[in-house]
Amino acid sequence: MASDKQNFGLIGLAVMGENLALNIERNGFSMSVYNRSRDKTDKFLATRAAGKNFKGTFTIAEFVASLERPRKMLIMVKAGAPVDAVIKELIPFLDEGDIIIDGGNSLYDDTDRRTVELEAINLKFIGMGVSGGEEGALNGPSMMPGGQKSAYAEIEPIVTKIAAQVDDGACVTYIGKGSAGHYVKMVHNGIEYGDMQLIAEAYDLLSTGLGLTASELHETFTAWKSSELDSYLIDITTDIFTKIDDLTGDALVNKILDAAGQKGTGKWTVQSAFDLGVPIPTMIAAVTARVMSSYKEERVAASKVLISSTSGKYEGDRQEFIDAVRDALYCSKICSYAQGMALLGAASRDFGYDLNLGEIARIWKGGCIIRAAFLDKIKLAFQRNDQLPNLLVDPDFKQTILTKEAAWRKVVMAAAQLGIPIPAFSASLDYFDSYRRDRLPQNLTQAQRDYFGAHTYERTDKPRGEFFHTEWMK
Ligand code: NAP
Repeated sequence: MASDKQNFGLIGLAVMGENLALNIERNGFSMSVYNRSRDKTDKFLATRAAGKNFKGTFTIAEFVASLERPRKMLIMVKAGAPVDAVIKELIPFLDEGDIIIDGGNSLYDDTDRRTVELEAINLKFIGMGVSGGEEGALNGPSMMPGGQKSAYAEIEPIVTKIAAQVDDGACVTYIGKGSAGHYVKMVHNGIEYGDMQLIAEAYDLLSTGLGLTASELHETFTAWKSSELDSYLIDITTDIFTKIDDLTGDALVNKILDAAGQKGTGKWTVQSAFDLGVPIPTMIAAVTARVMSSYKEERVAASKVLISSTSGKYEGDRQEFIDAVRDALYCSKICSYAQGMALLGAASRDFGYDLNLGEIARIWKGGCIIRAAFLDKIKLAFQRNDQLPNLLVDPDFKQTILTKEAAWRKVVMAAAQLGIPIPAFSASLDYFDSYRRDRLPQNLTQAQRDYFGAHTYERTDKPRGEFFHTEWMK
């Protein structure tokens, strides 16, 4: 006899929740939905869910009772305290082995805490990063589930079907234990910050430095779409330049206030990188740039005082400069991903996630905001060598960077001369130059530390781990 219970449950009918619910149902799974405010559930059932295989529920007890066992319940509510509130409400109605999935952008520490709390009462928990925004949620996101492997096995047939599909499979894979999924999603967002900042700097160089109009920028970015930069973010940027403002008839991008918002995942990535001791200067620059942009009034005032002698206009060959900016953008992007993957490698070791970096690059190839042709190259780099310490030393990426290095340096020098800030381009080049140096000036830093604080130092001509102190003032 067919079960009268639903296959899957979803709590939280905001943008992401509604679209994921529709995606899951469209793929053949019967759904129960619940939202704290009843009106959203009513509206959803009467509109987008009408005539489909949905059961609306209006209490948590009714929601839980409507699901087949083991129950599989996806929470898509605001990250933070609301997730705890929903879990607390669910617990009294659940049975051993039921699976709670948190699909929001939760902080990985919270996911670890929730995993321990739920395991103690024999419930399973999956922290799952979901990327792709509302469109991805509806038509196929990239998903990063972490938690108990046995819990993943239960949801695998569902998430594999609803994920974006690329040439080498579905954009979902088991990421690792505990908070691995949310950690990887956090770094994905940090990389997204880096990508967006790098594209913004390329735009600034071309619009401020060369004076390209929105329609010329559209043409340039359209050409870039057929290069190694081919990606979702380049695609949408190309579109953005075509949008005309209804009020003024000017390109809308010119009318948008230059103060960027952020929700926290970029900042968390930077904080975690500091905790793990991993340099991610491009992402730090990207987060800092958004913070700096928010100082709009102060910047406007300073622009009237700190008047530079630079013209701000590039006088050289225009096409050559456009091509150099494209190459600099690509080199900087490689450095940014090198940092992100190195951070994941360190987290994998420190937190015991046992991440497969090639697989992670693969599931980012479709569905998510950072999807890009070049993620396939990253996948291949880690398939060639799963112990690769840094993407920069992969033979393919090394060759690309060395080929484009001169153009990259030219752009960074030009920006400095023109007074155009390019914090992420510069940070990327500094990362490259620091990483490839066998000797950095921190010998002097160590001497200073030993001088004022007797912090000791190691010597170049003695084994690592042997420490020396000098009485500098004697
Ligand atoms: P959201 O605006 O982050 O959250 C709204 C939902 O949370 C509503 O269903 C709301 O219910 C519920 N909620 C808030 N506080 C609650 C509480 N104390 N108890 C129970 N429910 C509560 O929605 P969203 O943009 O769809 O995002 C959902 C999650 O996905 C977030 O973690 C977000 O960071 C993540 N995410 C979002 C995107 C995106 O593009 N938007 C992309 C990837 C991931 P009421 O209707 O009752 O207020």
